[in-house]
Amino acid sequence: MTRPEAFTQFKIKKDAKLAPLSTFKIGGVSEYLAIAETPEKFVDIAEWAKKNKIPLTIFAGGSNTVFPDGKLKGLVLRFFGGKISFQGKECVADGGVLLGEVVKKSIGRGLSGLETLSGIPGTVGGAVVGNAGAYGHSIAEIVKSVEIWDGKKKRWISKRECNFAYRQSVFKERQWLVLRIRLGFKAGNAAALRRISRHIIAIREKKYKPGIKCPGSFFKNVLVADVPRKSLERIDRSKIIDGKIPAGYLLESVGSKGMRVGGIEIASFHGNLFVNKGRAKAADVRKLANILRKKVYRKFGIMLEEEVRYI
Ligand SMILES: Cc1cc2nc3c(=O)[nH]c(=O)nc-3n(C[C@H](O)[C@H](O)[C@H](O)COP(=O)(O)OP(=O)(O)OC[C@H]3O[C@@H](n4cnc5c(N)ncnc54)[C@H](O)[C@@H]3O)c2cc1C
Repeated sequence: MTRPEAFTQFKIKKDAKLAPLSTFKIGGVSEYLAIAETPEKFVDIAEWAKKNKIPLTIFAGGSNTVFPDGKLKGLVLRFFGGKISFQGKECVADGGVLLGEVVKKSIGRGLSGLETLSGIPGTVGGAVVGNAGAYGHSIAEIVKSVEIWDGKKKRWISKRECNFAYRQSVFKERQWLVLRIRLGFKAGNAAALRRISRHIIAIREKKYKPGIKCPGSFFKNVLVADVPRKSLERIDRSKIIDGKIPAGYLLESVGSKGMRVGGIEIASFHGNLFVNKGRAKAADVRKLANILRKKVYRKFGIMLEEEVRYI
């Protein structure tokens, strides 16, 4: 096997620390780390890893990721960077571009569609993988098509093929690389969109104080349609929002606020917010998540699913 050190075309770092690369600031080291700033590099490096049978782990902004403690074998490949080009009411963004940049640029052009996603960290690629959203809207609503690398070739797939659902997409099932995303906006008023965006960011900053070490909401909210009638009878109906039972409500009902395992603490003001208070480990995260999942299951008969991705 060709070792990454021998592959001089790309910068590959050995024994790279992972914690600083995620918003949760948790994780050990990766055997090898490479950063791709363009879709072409992203494919080239992934192709090379595949050819050389080197295990490959993909991430981007690191805002929805829990890296493991200890040493991660193989190559960790980050897609971070790229460009955006607008044409009329459409734009094509490289997957590694920050979502915030696309939000800002679209608002500046008076294009509506992403304003409610203001303040969500991470990249457009990461947002498409997890169908990120907020305030009743998600990125899927404006995705037109996605360029992928399927392990053999590059191709564009339609929105239908993305199988978007609540915080779900085909990209969570398949090992495809998300290279570029075509988004379609509606005409709007730049000043009005900017007001919405600023308002949302102000609300978000109250929950996510600058510098907080967290991966956003930890568990997914629960779709009412997926909940058995018996469980639904135990739910305070006034808590249901847009057909979903907030995970925060379920967790708070079992006393999650302020609970702590190792360096992980649940925020005192939000039951679904796992905060790294210092030297937290991925093992602490999993332990606390399992304790809470069991408590919620015992009380409501509902099995919570993580929104975050463990690597
Ligand atoms: C403070 C805070 C607030 C948040 N608020 C919200 C919110 O309101 N709504 C919401 O939906 N989320 C929220 N999140 C979670 C997170 O920001 C989103 O899920 C975001 O879209 C993740 O993007 P990322 O680039 O950081 O992905 P990463 O965490 O780097 O990766 C997430 C997953 O996507 C995969 N992936 C990433 N890029 C690619 C690619 N190009 N090709 C293939 N696979 C890829 C990775 O393999 C990984 O499995 C929040 C997070 C934080 C820290």
